[in-house]
Amino acid sequence: MTILDGKKVSNDIKNEIAVEVQKIKDKGEKVPHLAAIIVGNDGASLTYVGSKVKACERVGFESTLVQMSNTTSEVELLDKIKELNENPEIDGFIVQLPLPPQINEQKVLLAVDPDKDVDGFHPTNFGKMALDMSTFIPATPFGILELLDRYGVETKGKHTVVIGRSHIVGRPMSILMGRKGFPGNSTVTLTHSHTKNITQITSQADIIISALGVPNFLKAEMVKDDAVIIDVGITRVTDETRPRGYRIVGDVDFANVSKKASYITPVPGGVGPMTIAMLLKNTLLARERHNI
Ligand code: NAP
Repeated sequence: MTILDGKKVSNDIKNEIAVEVQKIKDKGEKVPHLAAIIVGNDGASLTYVGSKVKACERVGFESTLVQMSNTTSEVELLDKIKELNENPEIDGFIVQLPLPPQINEQKVLLAVDPDKDVDGFHPTNFGKMALDMSTFIPATPFGILELLDRYGVETKGKHTVVIGRSHIVGRPMSILMGRKGFPGNSTVTLTHSHTKNITQITSQADIIISALGVPNFLKAEMVKDDAVIIDVGITRVTDETRPRGYRIVGDVDFANVSKKASYITPVPGGVGPMTIAMLLKNTLLARERHNI
């Protein structure tokens, strides 16, 4: 069994990006600049955004954090997005989800300039991805592709089962694994909460990508020998023995599933760090596009 070490690979990617940034600096050009908007003070969201800003510093990017209060109106947020769209200093930006209930998420995603949409959530970019055109691939699926690529995990002709059909993970993942090329050329089954007999489906899978957010959902009896297991799930579970009062748990019963798997991602240290590395990669790409 091989651990797909997202922490190590994401560090490699960050080192590679830092080299590119140094080259940009040596030429006296403007370094990539990522901005993040966060609305409200949800603990997990603040942690994610904080990690993104820290990652920017680590590779030499400029970063801007825009913090808006929980009572921000939709109009105020759309105005801020317009400002970032029009600011030539900003190469790319993200709006951290979820948003408070008074704000329509779809309106927000549509307002982001597709050329600055480094999350790859805008329908223009999602459509391009589905049509195999060059675009920003959403960071989590992009990170999973990169892990499979760097470990040389064969995907061609394999049966990939994706659990969860969210717009940011499951749905794009199912499209990407089924597309022509590597990683891809898989036969894909996309499952969700209405899927019947899910164990029957997962136990036939060569590759399982689990993105539902239910701790320890995927058990050893749902997995065949030598399957490749990608655990996207991140759930905070109360744990008074930890200094923070919680621990992070994935969708996969790692202790038992890892005994059967050929490759498996741990949680934490698997897909999570890859997501941030690929956001940086998309920002570098955005800067290149703006300089063409
Ligand atoms: P989401 O929007 O909540 O979607 C969950 C999906 O799982 C839905 O499609 C849902 O089906 C499906 N589902 C729920 N219960 C199910 C069940 N019993 N059997 C089969 N399918 C079921 O989730 P998300 O945003 O994709 O996130 C999923 C998990 O990944 C969360 O733990 C999240 O924190 C984590 N995540 C991690 C990263 C990372 O960087 N590692 C990034 C993003 C998300 P329906 O569509 O029928 O409701």
